[in-house]
Amino acid sequence: MLKVEGLNALVRAYNPKTNSQRISAAYKFGQEFHAGQVRYSGDPYFAHPVAVAEILAEQKLDDSTIITALLHDTIEDTTASYSEISQYFGEEVAILVDGVTKLTKLQLSSLETKEAENLRKLFIATSKDLRVILVKLADRLHNMRTIKALDPQKQIKKAHETMEIYAPLAGRMGMQWMREELEDLAFKVLNSNARQSIIRRFITLQKDAGDVIHRITMDMRRELEQAGIEAKVYGRAKKPYSVWRKMEEKKQGFTRLSDIYGFRVITEDEEDCYRALGAIHRRWCAVPDRFVDYISQPKSNGYRSLHSTVSGQDGKMVEVQIRTHAMHEVAETGVAAHWSYRDGVRVENPFAVNPVKWISSLNEQFEGQEDHHEFLEAVKLEMYSDRVFCFSPKGDVIELPQCATLIDFAFAIHSKLGSRTAGGKVDGVRMPLWTRLKNGQSVEIITAEGQKPQASWLEFATTGKARTAIRLALRDLDRNRFKKLGKELARAAFENIGRKSTDKVLDTAAKNLGLEDRDMLLKMLGSAEINTHSVVKAVYSDLVPSDVDEISPLRAVIGLEQDQSFKRATCCSPLPGERIVGITHRGKGVVVHAIDCDVLRQYENESRRWIDLHWQSGTHPPVYGATLLMTIGNDAGVLGRICTLIGEQKANISNLNFTDRKPDFYQMQIEVELRDVTHLHALMAVLEADSDVSSLERFRKTVKTRAFVESDA
Ligand code: MN
Repeated sequence: MLKVEGLNALVRAYNPKTNSQRISAAYKFGQEFHAGQVRYSGDPYFAHPVAVAEILAEQKLDDSTIITALLHDTIEDTTASYSEISQYFGEEVAILVDGVTKLTKLQLSSLETKEAENLRKLFIATSKDLRVILVKLADRLHNMRTIKALDPQKQIKKAHETMEIYAPLAGRMGMQWMREELEDLAFKVLNSNARQSIIRRFITLQKDAGDVIHRITMDMRRELEQAGIEAKVYGRAKKPYSVWRKMEEKKQGFTRLSDIYGFRVITEDEEDCYRALGAIHRRWCAVPDRFVDYISQPKSNGYRSLHSTVSGQDGKMVEVQIRTHAMHEVAETGVAAHWSYRDGVRVENPFAVNPVKWISSLNEQFEGQEDHHEFLEAVKLEMYSDRVFCFSPKGDVIELPQCATLIDFAFAIHSKLGSRTAGGKVDGVRMPLWTRLKNGQSVEIITAEGQKPQASWLEFATTGKARTAIRLALRDLDRNRFKKLGKELARAAFENIGRKSTDKVLDTAAKNLGLEDRDMLLKMLGSAEINTHSVVKAVYSDLVPSDVDEISPLRAVIGLEQDQSFKRATCCSPLPGERIVGITHRGKGVVVHAIDCDVLRQYENESRRWIDLHWQSGTHPPVYGATLLMTIGNDAGVLGRICTLIGEQKANISNLNFTDRKPDFYQMQIEVELRDVTHLHALMAVLEADSDVSSLERFRKTVKTRAFVESDA
């Protein structure tokens, strides 16, 4: 176990301005709180946090990260508390340690690949400060390095987690060395036979072909020297796991794999990267489609490099990565490069990404236009700024959009659960259904038998799934109400002609109209898909007054040319008897507006388009739609009575919409078909007289302009 002096020396080597007293205090704090605890290996427990701190010191990280590493298991595994840590080491460290603790607490059970992706997201989501993830990754790395102490089953579980979550996460963070080591350690547990055989193949290959790496390295150095480029060349065999993965992906045997060797050329400046590439391409054959320029198109985690694959005379292919020293540092440490120190100062590596900007830029990229591969990678990470992740009582991770509420959570689990929601608990506390959820909360939904989706839920349901399910359920409820409504309408309509709407009469009407049954007829009547007129006519055609002496709607307006067609404006829906004016539209004929319609203002300066019109006098058929906006009490039967009143006035309901539904009242828009403005006034007078109608007005679309002033000209 590294002693406190050793750790401080390690840190001081890259950061002379380190606060050794603080690190020593953290070391002492951790050692005291973990006193007496032992690891599976039998080592004192504190050896683990120290090893984690050492890994991070090797990455040249700042004091706060090192201290967090020393304390990372204290809140979870000892009696130390958040406030103690905050008191001794400051808020910054306390927040970091708390972040690591939260990640540790996550239930990483049942690892489906899809869930693993969720969990990777959750990791980032719960870690506003990416240093939390750096510590967690170092923690996992040390645990994997010492995994032999665990029993075989636990080893396999940990190795799976590492392969599914931690290794890809290290890759996303741009820490390639860590990704490779984690993968290799997990591979050793999960498939040690495959790993062994790949290592053996490398040994055989070396026996047969000699030291290929050394030969090619020397060749490249010579080539670059001759071109006058100052550069370092490193060669290496790929890690067994990445060779194995390529074999799996390409379904190819080991000997046919092209890139089991990788070479790196590290230059002094960017200019030399391209010159080195030229020199290498002149000497060896470039393999088509394998060249990528990450210098002009850096990855979002800051990675820059030129990639190319070349083949020699023997047809063997090798991969070459060319980059500068500064780019190389970012390639190795990724996002961590931002916090690293050299010679006592934060390294000003021009290529290191600022993690905060990195996070926010992912969102911008999401809205951006570029769609190359790197962009797609970035989009996968987009989630943590606009998603929240919560837990079900079973420990499942539920992913929701930002602003999601308890009701969204309920429907995200299951529509049936959502529909029966009566309340909910967040972190064990009863909360109203409109409560917005935050990352990492545990949520429990309380259900009740007989509970049904409420229209008011739509006001705070945000997910498509919840909203659709609520609307569907409301439509079913509406269907029942429409049926009741249809019954009322039929009763009123038949009474009007002195008949009764018995089941038998309704059956006959349904049959004559070609409808399935009586229920269907009533539902359609209630939802205004058919009108009472046609239902009555289907049974007593002789008792329904004929339309003979009514004015044809085609000739209802006087003042048009022979060939001019007209249409009632939908903004003001003028009725016969109201003062009107026509506006000509090329190709659309004449649109008839009420003289006080706001829309007419737009045509003020186009007097040639105005036509003087008036309605034909005499009896019009009830075909002119008008919309009423009314608020009625939510008493059983009120809606039915309203419909009866409308029916008695011989007006058809052609549409009915609930615009607002509160427990004690409904607001709705009813479209009725009327003869003329007198008919409208009569209907409104009757409706207003009903004590359950609390407000009533004719609804017209208005535009946001000054009211039109009627001229008397
Ligand atoms: Mn740990």
